[in-house]
Amino acid sequence: MKLRSMNELRWNWPHLALLGALVPFAWLCRIVAMTPSAMLTLGTLLSLAWLMFAERRWPARPEWTPGTAELVRDGAFLGINAVTDAAGGLVLAWLVLHGATAMPGPPASWSPWIALPAAVALGELGPYALHRWSHRGGWGWLVHSVHHAAMRVNASNNLTVHPLNVMWNQFARAVPWLLLGFDATVIAWASLFIQVQSFAVHANIAGTLGPLSRWIGTAELHRWHHSVAREEALNFSTALPLWDWAFGTYRAPSVAGPVRVGISELPPGVGWTQWRRMLVAPLCSYCA
Ligand SMILES: [Zn+2]
Repeated sequence: MKLRSMNELRWNWPHLALLGALVPFAWLCRIVAMTPSAMLTLGTLLSLAWLMFAERRWPARPEWTPGTAELVRDGAFLGINAVTDAAGGLVLAWLVLHGATAMPGPPASWSPWIALPAAVALGELGPYALHRWSHRGGWGWLVHSVHHAAMRVNASNNLTVHPLNVMWNQFARAVPWLLLGFDATVIAWASLFIQVQSFAVHANIAGTLGPLSRWIGTAELHRWHHSVAREEALNFSTALPLWDWAFGTYRAPSVAGPVRVGISELPPGVGWTQWRRMLVAPLCSYCA
């Protein structure tokens, strides 16, 4: 393994700028009275566009720049998972309407400065546990390995996730928020922060967030999670490394990222047939 190069020692300022831009974006949303779903959609798309621009301009590993076929694949997953996300949202809305959840609870009266970090930390706990479980193998890995099958790590392949994986994360995140009765605006902003961080930790942008990696999720931490070597593939949290710290899966070596990313079961250059099989396999082992 090589030591960090100068390129990897400079600040990852596009990630920092993105986090900083959330403050004026929040102010703008308030001024124009934007709905939470419009804020989430616009914030997510603008963040992705900025990170993809920064990846082209300041790549950490130029060989990880997505080609046309990969962008088409990631775009297809964006479409599939937008439908999945909307369907999951309808189920959650049904639960709320039928009174199973969403009674205002103590967090609704907390200051946003306390409620927002609490919502982000709580929203990460369920997905952390499921993520760790899915890496143990079996059916969970059959679903989650779709995300690891890409042989490059960049912002757009954060979209390449099995719809079942999207749905279990959505429920593991939202149900505790609703059961504890967090305020709807806090839930919307916690969702946006987690979404933005999810793209940023995959972004192939040069630089580091240095000591901030102990407090927020960063690309230099998450690249290790995509290592082919299973003993290196820790850092299961995305937005905050909090649960990795708490449960002993935090990994931040003082060397450059993994030699190879992806999964050892697949050859490089996975084609459409393979992607289709991976999507179908967890649902019907005979059809794949
Ligand atoms: Zn994983």
